[in-house]
Amino acid sequence: MVKTCTGCHKELAATTDNFCIRPLGKFGFAAKCKKCNAEYAKKYQQENKIRLAERDKKYYQENKIKLLKYQRKYVQENKIKLLKYQRKYVQENKIKLDENRKKYVQENKIKLLKYQRKYRQENKIKLDENRKKYVQENKIKLLKYQRKYVQENKIKLDENRKKYYQENKIKIAKHNKKYKEKNKIKIAKYYKKYFQEIKENLNGQYLKILLEKQGFSKEQMTPEIIELKLILIKTKRL
Ligand SMILES: [Zn+2]
Repeated sequence: MVKTCTGCHKELAATTDNFCIRPLGKFGFAAKCKKCNAEYAKKYQQENKIRLAERDKKYYQENKIKLLKYQRKYVQENKIKLLKYQRKYVQENKIKLDENRKKYVQENKIKLLKYQRKYRQENKIKLDENRKKYVQENKIKLLKYQRKYVQENKIKLDENRKKYYQENKIKIAKHNKKYKEKNKIKIAKYYKKYFQEIKENLNGQYLKILLEKQGFSKEQMTPEIIELKLILIKTKRL
């Protein structure tokens, strides 16, 4: 059986490959072929875009509660399936998703930084508390992790430190000076305690450190000098 499409006027075999079933149509098929039907539907959608969008919007508004309920129920009932599907999708599209994320971060850098800063400011107390609590609860784990990290990255960390020092020499010197001025009393107390301990635990090693601090070179630290220093320290003329 051959049927002529009323759209493209082609003569096509009257089968479900070419025509949709319409019980009232000729041979029980639709007047237009599947291809023409699809084209017609597409054209109709394009021409009525705004009207159809408005219709969808209206329908959504009128049935919001029902739709949300249905959606929630569907998610509840298909949780595992949906999670699996999501995980699979993330795995299969890892590169694309990473690229998208990077691109988004690049393009929205300033906006994201602003948002982050605002969030931190507004939630400072909560965030500080959370951090403290986390550190308290995971002290041992964190210390272990830190020690392991330092051991495994010793060379890299040393290099970074050196590089940072080189690049920030002036800033660091300024900071040190400021710190010393601000903490004068504390530092003086610390040194007093330090020398007190040296005096109490006097031995060759401490004395050498002390002499070094006072500007003696190794060659100058003769047994006579050390002997003299010992007498001076013991008579409290440090
Ligand atoms: Zn056709």
